[in-house]
Amino acid sequence: MATDQLEFTNPVERFASISPPEQRQPEPGLEAKMDPVPDIGEHTYRGTGRLRGRKALITGGDSGIGAATAVAFAREGADVAIAYLPVEETDAANVARIIAESGQRVVQIPGDLMDPEYPSRVVEEAVRELGGLDILVNNAAKQVAIEGLADLSDDQLEETFTANILSMFRLTRAALPHLQPGSSIINTTSIQAYQPSPTLLDYAATKAAINNFSKGLAEELAPKGIRVNAVAPGPIWTAIQPSDGQPIEKLPDFGKDVGLGRAGQPTELAPAYVFLASSESSYVLGATIHVNGGQPTP
Ligand code: NAD
Ligand code: MG
Repeated sequence: MATDQLEFTNPVERFASISPPEQRQPEPGLEAKMDPVPDIGEHTYRGTGRLRGRKALITGGDSGIGAATAVAFAREGADVAIAYLPVEETDAANVARIIAESGQRVVQIPGDLMDPEYPSRVVEEAVRELGGLDILVNNAAKQVAIEGLADLSDDQLEETFTANILSMFRLTRAALPHLQPGSSIINTTSIQAYQPSPTLLDYAATKAAINNFSKGLAEELAPKGIRVNAVAPGPIWTAIQPSDGQPIEKLPDFGKDVGLGRAGQPTELAPAYVFLASSESSYVLGATIHVNGGQPTP
């Protein structure tokens, strides 16, 4: 079993270098059906009380990076609301179980970010059920690989922008009246914001927009004591990849071209979110933390 995140370890070997067999699921993909199943830290993330008493809402909290963040937040003492698509109920139930077993309150709020009414409903429900809100993690995203621009349909273009960036504006706007000084907003961007793949033109453009939104909003909210930051993952083994996020033939070598020579596991992202959520990052605003296995990034 992998070591916990506080143990001294060789990052090359902390998690196995995986060669996933070619596999495909319909969007958004279920983590439980993946081969191998990604590691969201159930058995390895050890909390140290860094988010005691905090109340967090995480979109895409059913699987992958959002799920690993939800598990870590709970282990650090936060109550957590997770938002996800209704078809992801089994993954969400698994995360809810881990949070409950960690002794924290969990709220499940299924729905579709394509629906312009959903972002405000998610926030209202999270605030009602958690008794407030002081951490917002905008992490949900749609990623569907194409051959190139000529292959990009209008529907996909609009869906990618709605899911990844328009809904982030709506959700954050709905959360604002509930956030007080000390609160933290964390947006998931990507290495794609800096190194766009020709197969991910629409997705990569939304990720660049997320960086820009995070920096601008950080300036707006700084005087109010609310910090906004972003996390930029590199190649992480999650359900987004085998559900058309990558050309299927690329899956066996997924992530092998980074410095560490292996794909990352979702739980390796969690400490960055914990750091940005907690008061120990009180002087960090408008920043992007890169968690990408070793890819030079501005
Ligand atoms: P994931 O599939 O586990 O999580 C993405 C989640 O987005 C899904 O679980 C789903 O709940 C949510 N989602 C998608 N469309 C939605 C919609 N219409 N309405 C509501 N929810 C919706 O994959 P992940 O890799 O953990 O993705 C999390 C974040 O990490 C995303 O923002 C993604 O762009 C980013 N990211 C991932 C990688 C990677 O290699 N996996 C790299 C860079 C950035
Ligand atoms: Mg999912």
